[in-house]
Amino acid sequence: MPIPAPAAAALRSRMFIGGDWRDAADGRKFAVYNPATGEEIAQVPQATAEDVDAAVAAARAALVAPAWAGLTPYARERIMSRLADLIEAHADELAHLETLNQGKLLPWSHAIEVGGSAQWLRYMAGWATKVEGSSFEVSIPFPPGTKYRTSTQRVPVGVVGAIVPWNFPLAMAMWKIAPALATGCTVVLKPAEETPLTALRLAELALEAGLPPGVLNVVTGDGETAGAALVRHPGVDKVSFTGSTEVGRLIGAQCGRDIRRVALELGGKSPVIVLDDVDVEAAVAGAAGAIFFNHGQVCTAGSRLYVAKKLYDKVVDGLAQVADGTVLGSGFDAQAQMGPMVSARHRDRVMTLMATGAAEGGEVVAGGRAGDGPGYFVRPTVVANTANKPLTLVREEVFGPVLVAMPYDDMDSVLQQANDSAYGLGASVWTNDLRRAQRAIDALQAGTVWVNTHNMVDPAMPFGGFKSSGVGREHGRSAIEAYTELKSVCIAY
Ligand code: NAP
Ligand code: MG
Repeated sequence: MPIPAPAAAALRSRMFIGGDWRDAADGRKFAVYNPATGEEIAQVPQATAEDVDAAVAAARAALVAPAWAGLTPYARERIMSRLADLIEAHADELAHLETLNQGKLLPWSHAIEVGGSAQWLRYMAGWATKVEGSSFEVSIPFPPGTKYRTSTQRVPVGVVGAIVPWNFPLAMAMWKIAPALATGCTVVLKPAEETPLTALRLAELALEAGLPPGVLNVVTGDGETAGAALVRHPGVDKVSFTGSTEVGRLIGAQCGRDIRRVALELGGKSPVIVLDDVDVEAAVAGAAGAIFFNHGQVCTAGSRLYVAKKLYDKVVDGLAQVADGTVLGSGFDAQAQMGPMVSARHRDRVMTLMATGAAEGGEVVAGGRAGDGPGYFVRPTVVANTANKPLTLVREEVFGPVLVAMPYDDMDSVLQQANDSAYGLGASVWTNDLRRAQRAIDALQAGTVWVNTHNMVDPAMPFGGFKSSGVGREHGRSAIEAYTELKSVCIAY
């Protein structure tokens, strides 16, 4: 399939450091693919530790240079708003580029990657002028006769090393960039190696919006080299990571050793609990959306389904029909309802986990196989686990369109099962019974509990995980706190 013209124009082959477009120090590059066809679409630099060094130096210099530190909060807000305007002005180009590189359906690239990024930027831009401390009375009795004026103020945490995954490339980057800019931080962003293209285009637009050189840097490369170099760099004040729990553990350990601030948004195995009072059709539509949205490549994907026994067969049949009827195709194809997995490697991982589910005694009632190639397609899959076995699929994140469904007897047991997970990112409960909904909200160990909806996020609503799903919260006031240090001031007079 030919590359749409706006996307072709935006393909980049260099990375962005200190306002300049650069090759890697050793000149190496790696290929980036279109997951719907398997075709190579670009070559980008494979950053070395030396390149990361240069990017961190640029970010440090920008932190103290008058061009950024000297700006008023309102001036920062203006630049951020201009960037939001430019993102919207280039919506078609950015959405095409994201669909080309990531594979998601074009309307979702428009709504989430582009629309969401502009919304997050504007929301956080509003915060730039609202960062505040407090003043309070203290009772320090020494030396006698001395008075004290005491207060707190928030100061930027400094240089932020932001490492993001490939499932929502532009949006995940913006979840970190927007609050960092609002609070006066500077950023070195490392996009996932699969999906670096929209981040590079964003950097170019940021320069056009008036962001001073060095405030936002984008280093393309792999996690083991560029990512790890960023995490251990002494010039980085805070690491903000979104990705797998496995890598989050490594990053958390490194930051712990270095006493570097760290935020971790990690994996999930989010339960969807359907109570016995709901309309079956609505429950099927809700559960299907919870798992199949973005082809299951969502950290909060509703991948464990618990249905009240009396509705179980109907709901599972309905989901199997949805899965069987789903049209797979390129994200540019208006008929397609689901696109490809992001890479051949990820497709293979999803297929392996799916096969494990069947081998362990799960009953595949829909899907269970790859889609037609050459792209990296996987059929949406429903695995019935009627006997409630401790399948790998119940415990491990698949990050693909694979649902495991279980019947339950009573509310106590389902809440206990829902919480019986190493993860705690999201959970949803589907019911019209207010009392039981609130009971579930109280009991569920999850950073976000949805009722009669799933996967919904907003820049005003804190987001993050309980348990192995992470440390820290993004969005809202929590994000402003996450990108600032709190300084106490004590004046004697
Ligand atoms: P990943 O392997 O953890 O990678 C995430 C990012 O970390 C990529 O940019 C990756 O670089 C980089 N990285 C890998 N190893 C690193 C290391 N040793 N040091 C520093 N950086 C390193 O995850 P993924 O496969 O890209 O994404 C899927 C996973 O992310 C899923 O498990 C999902 O649950 C999780 N996720 C969580 C959230 C959330 O908000 N909680 C959101 C989205 C995704 P390269 O890949 O370029 O090598
Ligand atoms: Mg990766």
